Amino acid sequence: MRGLFDVAGKNVLVTGGSRGIGLMIARGFVEAGATVIISSRKADVCKEAETELSRFGTCIAHAADLATDEGIDSLADGTAQIAPSLDVLVNNAGATWGAPIGEFPGGGFDKVMGVNVKAVFLLTQKLLPQLRVAASAEDPARVINIGSIDGLRVSSADNFSYAASKAAVHMLTRQTAAALAAEHITVNAIAPGLFPTKMMAHALDDDAARRRMTDKVPLHRTGTPEDIAGTALFLSSRAGAYLTGAVIPVDGGVSVAK
Ligand code: NAP
Repeated sequence: MRGLFDVAGKNVLVTGGSRGIGLMIARGFVEAGATVIISSRKADVCKEAETELSRFGTCIAHAADLATDEGIDSLADGTAQIAPSLDVLVNNAGATWGAPIGEFPGGGFDKVMGVNVKAVFLLTQKLLPQLRVAASAEDPARVINIGSIDGLRVSSADNFSYAASKAAVHMLTRQTAAALAAEHITVNAIAPGLFPTKMMAHALDDDAARRRMTDKVPLHRTGTPEDIAGTALFLSSRAGAYLTGAVIPVDGGVSVAK
């Protein structure tokens, strides 16, 4: 059982790796000895994250806007050059939109579905040649999609397109898992609960709001870098090699709260 959770030497791409949950996951992989490519739109923020993570190991930034076909192509091409054999693709970059039902704009669907769903599919598709090089029966290549508990149960927020997009990510995970299993590429989703990131800043910005939110979490706390990176590392190691098509809530019990 020694080395069961080892990911050292693996090549990993984490989209949205410049901050928040993506940065937590990227740091986990870097500290565990993987070579990690991180990506987001803002080149300067990406570069800062690369500098920060390079203190612990190997990290390379490649800025790209996944809302555009050119951005997806650029990230796929850049990744192929750095990692002709790609062991792990973490589709984490995501966007949200909030507005009351009567005012929710069509653009709030186009933006969120584009980044959260379409880009996940297209980037996976474009990186299949590199994932195939890494894939074997003993050690499959891994795709990890970041979904959300908002795709598993009804949220208290007015985030109509976001919730729909995350339910779509979960189903896309299952369908791509079925399509790629024969090629030894596994596809799983992590459905995070409440993590204190920029995306959640509006809901956690003061002590009272944070208490209200964490009171709804059965384990009475928000998620930490260890919680989310630990699940991603598990899925990417020998320990997670037999899972595919799973949607794993990492939510302190919110998805089963009474
Ligand atoms: P965040 O702090 O807002 O980070 C989002 C990341 O995605 C950033 O690196 C951002 O960088 C990047 N990004 C956004 N739009 C992009 C685009 N068009 N192209 C490329 N990169 C883009 O959010 P987070 O909370 O860490 O969320 C990460 C993932 O976890 C998302 O999929 C989110 O839905 C999911 N999630 C989060 C929570 C939570 O409690 N935080 C709960 C459930 C699920 P740039 O702005 O530089 O592009």
